[in-house]
Amino acid sequence: RERTLAMIKPDGLLGNYTDKIKTIILESGFGIIKERMVQLDDEKAALFYAEHSGKSFFQSLVKYMTSGPVYVMVLEKPDAVSRWRALIGPTDARKAKVSHPSSIRAMCGSDLERNCVHGSDSPQSAAREISFFFGDISPA
Ligand code: ATP
Repeated sequence: RERTLAMIKPDGLLGNYTDKIKTIILESGFGIIKERMVQLDDEKAALFYAEHSGKSFFQSLVKYMTSGPVYVMVLEKPDAVSRWRALIGPTDARKAKVSHPSSIRAMCGSDLERNCVHGSDSPQSAAREISFFFGDISPA
């Protein structure tokens, strides 16, 4: 078993996609180990996306991620990291609507920035992101 961090971003919460997304998660066989709603401030959003701090879209990304609350969940199942990434689809929600129409980003995202959900990109990122939001929790 493996764990990943899943996040419903502000546009996903505002668009009332939380229940739909949680249904997809449970029907796909993930356990939801922990969950909570969080309002990020500039500092926390910048820290979460620190790897993008030099990019042209960074300020806009921080503004988007602080525009409303996010909903974070620790998901667990075998290959959770890659399974969740496969369910959410490509980063650019506009492209997802064409190439992966049944993906979560196709359902609730708008474009390259406003893509309604996040998923850790590796088990290492998952460990960092899970402790970022939940501190130390008992191992899988
Ligand atoms: P996430 O890490 O949120 O799951 P990702 O791994 O698919 O997304 P990253 O490349 O890590 O994508 O980018 C992090 C987030 O920054 C994206 O989800 C998106 O919201 C935003 N983003 C990425 N690239 C761009 C861009 N070129 N212009 C605007 N926003 C972007």
